[in-house]
Amino acid sequence: MEKIKRTEIVDLFKPCAKELIGKDVCVKAWVRTKRGNKNVAFLALNDGSTIKNIQIVVEIGSFDEDVLRRITTGACVRVEGLLVESMGKGQSVEIQARTIEIYGEADTETYPLQKKGHTLEFLREIAHLRPRTNTFSAVFRIRHAMAYAIHKYFNDNGFFYWHSPLITASDCEGAGEMFQVTTLDMEQLPRNEEGKVDYTQDFYGKRTSLTVSGQLEGELGAMSLGKIYTFGPTFRAENSNTPRHLSEFWMIEPEMAFYEIEDNMDLAEDFIKYLIRYALENCQDDLEFLQSMYDKNLTDRLRFVLDNSFVRLTYTEAIDILSASGHKFEFPVHWGVDLQSEHERFLVEHHFKSPVILTDYPKEIKAFYMKQNDDGKTVRGMDVLFPLIGEIIGGSQREENMEKLVSRMKEVGINPKDMDWYLDTRRFGSAPHSGFGLGFERLLLFVTGMSNIRDVIPFPRYPKNANY
Ligand code: ATP
Ligand code: MN
Repeated sequence: MEKIKRTEIVDLFKPCAKELIGKDVCVKAWVRTKRGNKNVAFLALNDGSTIKNIQIVVEIGSFDEDVLRRITTGACVRVEGLLVESMGKGQSVEIQARTIEIYGEADTETYPLQKKGHTLEFLREIAHLRPRTNTFSAVFRIRHAMAYAIHKYFNDNGFFYWHSPLITASDCEGAGEMFQVTTLDMEQLPRNEEGKVDYTQDFYGKRTSLTVSGQLEGELGAMSLGKIYTFGPTFRAENSNTPRHLSEFWMIEPEMAFYEIEDNMDLAEDFIKYLIRYALENCQDDLEFLQSMYDKNLTDRLRFVLDNSFVRLTYTEAIDILSASGHKFEFPVHWGVDLQSEHERFLVEHHFKSPVILTDYPKEIKAFYMKQNDDGKTVRGMDVLFPLIGEIIGGSQREENMEKLVSRMKEVGINPKDMDWYLDTRRFGSAPHSGFGLGFERLLLFVTGMSNIRDVIPFPRYPKNANY
């Protein structure tokens, strides 16, 4: 007998699947649960295409006992049978099995996802298997949808996808936070006359590292193609064991010629709102699941962001609010301090109860490339702060004036010679321009309602962990 073509489970729950009712269908999937009595067994199958399981009804008498015994939680099977409307609550259709073929068994003694209700901490220990759970499959489908929406947003708005290098020789941004890349033999490092490591013998002939940001190269793109964005992995060797830091994370960095900081803020707000709207419209089932399991305010919080304008204020105004609040902070507040997450959360969660964009920070706490204001004290940086997450975006208008940029570089101890390629943007046809970086996993924390950044990337990288 000829085999029937496979239908993905997601398609069985679409309205157009009505046509298939009363016909034979085939599904290929993993067994989530098996229950029943001595006459009939019910299998819940999931193939990853949707959060929904398809129920398979198995008349025990019509199947080989040995085959049925080998169908356990975690096993992978191919089932052919009649698609019928389901009497069961919450399931529109189910399959009455005619044939079952086992692709792969899963030993009941050793398969770790046997029981329901494992903690997220336990599942992190078996990150290679956790996508088989409802929670993680939902999170990773949303991750995919957001990645797609990011490309769609920029493409539809005239931005070009720009690939900045992952290996870089410029380390001005992440002093001390970079992972070194080398082919030198660590056991026998070549030394020069001064006794220092001789990097001329290294693969690139100089010391290189993994990038902490694609921005500087992104600026070259903006100053030629007009509007570009990068979307790729970035690496930071900061020893931050927090629920909001990874040592390998994905960042989206748009960079635009002729954008001033106000245009930059408008873009950041419109972009985030677009992504959240996209999730609400396209990831309903997965969001509903996560909401029911972890966070009953999830979709309300997403809608709230759509319905309200982000509050915009300067760093100086924020310091005034924090000082006047009378609140006891662990880190005292005065003009010039770098805001800690307790300060950011106070502003966002207690004071404004809304996403906030802070601008015009003291130049001492921001990077050398930010445009200097006329007051001589502040720069046109902007951070977007979100409830529960804190900083989700960091960006700025860039300093387009060659002299000002060079003098700032010298102040912070960067040799302008080392960055000659970058300075060419200012040397030849300089223009006002701006950009920002959105941490992809921070966005996903907000959209999924998960509380630990290690749970929104398939294989998280953090201090003392590089498994899989
Ligand atoms: P934070 O103060 O939260 O450590 P940052 O100021 O170092 O962040 P930027 O250099 O401005 O971050 O990077 C831009 C964006 O990248 C941040 O707004 C954030 O969304 C994200 N990001 C930064 N560091 C990390 C990290 N270690 N893991 C995940 N996302 C990060
Ligand atoms: Mn920042």
